[in-house]
Amino acid sequence: MAGLLDGLGEMGLKNLEGMDLYEKPAAKEAEKKQAAAPVVKETDFLFDKGFDCPVCGNKIKARTLRSGRARVIRTDTDLRPVYENIEPLKYDPVVCSKCGYSALARFFPSLTQSQVKEIQEKISKAFQANIAEQEVYSYEEAMYRYKLCLANAIVKNAKASEKAYICLKAGWLTRSWQERLAADKTPENEKKCEELKAQETEYLKNAMEGFLTARQTEDYPMCGMDETTVEFLLSVLSMEYGNLDTASRLISTIITSPAASSRMKDKARDVKDMILAKMKEKK
Ligand SMILES: [Zn+2]
Repeated sequence: MAGLLDGLGEMGLKNLEGMDLYEKPAAKEAEKKQAAAPVVKETDFLFDKGFDCPVCGNKIKARTLRSGRARVIRTDTDLRPVYENIEPLKYDPVVCSKCGYSALARFFPSLTQSQVKEIQEKISKAFQANIAEQEVYSYEEAMYRYKLCLANAIVKNAKASEKAYICLKAGWLTRSWQERLAADKTPENEKKCEELKAQETEYLKNAMEGFLTARQTEDYPMCGMDETTVEFLLSVLSMEYGNLDTASRLISTIITSPAASSRMKDKARDVKDMILAKMKEKK
């Protein structure tokens, strides 16, 4: 196209010199496609929810998932929900950027006086605010928030179930991150995936241990989950990271439980088959 419009610059229209005479068909197609499928942005699913920090009194605006807007496209065997166009797990930890207090949203407001003291002593004193409040979080930023959340849970001596729940969600988030990276197979991404896989295993093992303790010492519902759900989860985690006998015992309880729904029992039968296959493999 070069040349046709050269000289326009002399008429003050320099920026028109590069125009194409004919519209490229490819460009037109792309334009059409864009018009047909509007771009879905992560921000469309989020809003700012207000929290008062129970440690320092700071007013926090936490990015929060709008209920009912995101669509679940599948659920992994260990009950991790996978959403279309957004990863809501990134937005579960609420962080006070002033004092470093952090917890999953459902646990954020409730602290005892002695827990506040512990957090002030062990977190706030050393905490350096390097968290920029963003519209959306990258996986990296979200993982940092989970780590802060877990550190707070340890410092405040949280129940085993709360710590296990943080580990579960952090493990799920690393899996989500791996899936994102796997879509673009570069050597760098493959290496990062290996690292993340090891982290996922570590988090989920700890989730399993925490929930195993919690079911001996705490009441249901646990982190919003009923007994059947926790036992199902524990069975799957035990199958992957623990003991196949424990996994088998837990899943059999669900299959014969009058409290379990028929949908849950169907899922439990599938897991039972997976456990039996693994047992055979081992022999
Ligand atoms: Zn605070």
